[in-house]
Amino acid sequence: MFEILRKSFATGVVTTGYPLAQAEVSTNACGRPEIDFANWKDARPAVAACPTGALACADSSGTRTVTLDLAKCTFCGLCAEADAAIGMTNVCELAARRKEDLVTTTEYELGSGGAHQKLLGHQASGTDSQRGPVEALGAELKARVEKVLGRSLNIREVDAGSCNGCEVEIAGLNSPVYDIERFGIHFVASPRHADMLLVTGPVSRNMELALRKTYDATPGPRLVVAVGACGCSGGIFGQNYASLGGVDKVIPVDVYVPGCPPNPYALLHGILLALGKRRV
Ligand code: SF4
Repeated sequence: MFEILRKSFATGVVTTGYPLAQAEVSTNACGRPEIDFANWKDARPAVAACPTGALACADSSGTRTVTLDLAKCTFCGLCAEADAAIGMTNVCELAARRKEDLVTTTEYELGSGGAHQKLLGHQASGTDSQRGPVEALGAELKARVEKVLGRSLNIREVDAGSCNGCEVEIAGLNSPVYDIERFGIHFVASPRHADMLLVTGPVSRNMELALRKTYDATPGPRLVVAVGACGCSGGIFGQNYASLGGVDKVIPVDVYVPGCPPNPYALLHGILLALGKRRV
């Protein structure tokens, strides 16, 4: 007992300062792919390598429209292996309130052989603009929880067909390093005690009814956060005989958290974003 106490004191505080401090993500971690749009010669090899359809292109009348949809991206890095114009970053704070904010669209004029000749336009995703404000949110997080819900925030986690990769990261939120309880945020065992549903998985057809019932059992105002590529879009499974293709196919979603799986910083970022929006 005394030995444990001695070790605890010797270790000191291990809890991250996030979101007041920057997220300490390993430089080896795979986050959002970054594309050198200005010097991109041809999107087709990277599009062919992408296993989820996150990177897609469509040609029409001498132009090509290329889209990168972070809701579908598993951060696998195959596009970066196929094309030197693409690199993988460790950027993980990518949550968005609207699914369309996760999409980057770029248009090129095509030259001979289908190569890019000229960059015609670029519409960045909305996630970049949201990374700055989350640090400001951290300072007033507790006040915001109280203002939005009048007390602490209770989360019910719902596994709607996940591989459990997201659950491993969610469990990390309760570890001494991320310690989500310091914000007055708790995980609860019943949707009847919950303010927020944190939903993982592409929503298997066997889980559809359970998810609907869980949503209905959660008292309003309630928030729904779709977690991971599967929760955002169906991920690698998409929509098929066994999978409905994402949480918003079944219940309304307030915030989408991309990643495969999203790390605890990304989850915390998404939860903070959700607290800025209330469904009455
Ligand atoms: S990282 Fe993987 S899933 Fe994401 S765009 Fe690249 S190839 Fe597609």
